[in-house]
Amino acid sequence: MDMIHAEEALKNLFAQITNAHLKPDFSQEGMKAALLEIMALAANIVESVHDTQTEDRVDCKAGCSYCCYNQIKLTPAEALLIFSWIGNEFTDRERALLGERIQNNRLLTEGTSLENRVRIKESSPCVFLQQGKCSIYPVRPLICRSWTSYSHKVCKDAFESGNHNAEIETSSSSNFVYYLARETVRKSCRYHGVDSVPLELPMAMDCCFSHSDPFTRWLEGEHLFDRVPDWQNPDDTDFSFMDIQVPTFLDRFSLSYLRDGSCIEYFLHSKEKEMEISTELILSYDSHSKSLNVSKFYPELNKEPIHKYMSAACLFLMIHHAASVFGIHRDSFIFLETRNRVFEDFYSRLKDFGFLIHHERTGDNCNVRGIYHMLPIETSMIVPAGQTAHMAAC
Ligand code: SF4
Ligand code: SF4
Repeated sequence: MDMIHAEEALKNLFAQITNAHLKPDFSQEGMKAALLEIMALAANIVESVHDTQTEDRVDCKAGCSYCCYNQIKLTPAEALLIFSWIGNEFTDRERALLGERIQNNRLLTEGTSLENRVRIKESSPCVFLQQGKCSIYPVRPLICRSWTSYSHKVCKDAFESGNHNAEIETSSSSNFVYYLARETVRKSCRYHGVDSVPLELPMAMDCCFSHSDPFTRWLEGEHLFDRVPDWQNPDDTDFSFMDIQVPTFLDRFSLSYLRDGSCIEYFLHSKEKEMEISTELILSYDSHSKSLNVSKFYPELNKEPIHKYMSAACLFLMIHHAASVFGIHRDSFIFLETRNRVFEDFYSRLKDFGFLIHHERTGDNCNVRGIYHMLPIETSMIVPAGQTAHMAAC
């Protein structure tokens, strides 16, 4: 089987598990069962591939833990599985000591360079590494399961010399299978509108321990794993709120557009209903002030099932698309006029453009001004609409 077909087959197998456990009931028990089943299936597949290998043999052995001095990332779903397991398996004292290790590790490592992390690695092992063993082994993250090496000696030498650029030959089948497993979990979480972006392990565990009943609240869509993105740091674009919401939006909807001079009309199409659902979506460009105006924004997404954040994702994509069409630069203004109530309920909550009222109008309307932050957002999926669509007057 070639790689493309293998990928499709594996994605389907993992998706069958998430569908079976999470589609009928998006619950704690369902999420835990889905994760454990995906982990077991991935392990079986990887093991059977390794069994057929005659030359390169994975050299990992019980008690070897050089790889547990790296900082790893895991998804909120995996962190909550661990949190739940700890609740049953750890004593109160073990939990208290773990809390201390989490805080110490965060203080030592967060915001520091890779070189510094390598330098202090022996004083900042994974918070779950105890007497050279993983203390959460049955529920350890997917990325830990994916790690392999064809040479224990190379891992040892790299650790002892502090050479973080050492080439450690790993099993590509293990990386491939566990990567797809993690992406399936993320996709399912995005579908259900919950946080899915991977975080560093100490931070993710701290998010769990610093909230009451975190599993239930996460399932209900609370952003317990949110953090403020640093737009100057390219790695942080992965943490943006819209990085989570846009793929969910695009799974269910598509946008097309018609341009007429300085106006663009967008059309929102529901893939489930196979029809256009928006009333009016129009952005216009003022070439004198080089600003963007949200002339009409009626996506009608509030009539759709599970529509939370979908209007925000729609506006986010439209603005970034129009900015690329008109060549708008960062820090340009975005203007719109709306009702005070809509501003309070919607625009003021969109952190991405920093919308603020800059002019109160008579009645209950207001003029709003925001700032365009140029981000590397892909908008090529927004295609020109068919010739039959009609351009509304700007
Ligand atoms: S990846 Fe390297 S350090 Fe980790 S268990 Fe395998 S041989 Fe040991
Ligand atoms: S969770 Fe376990 S396997 Fe993963 S890095 Fe930590 S100690 Fe190692």
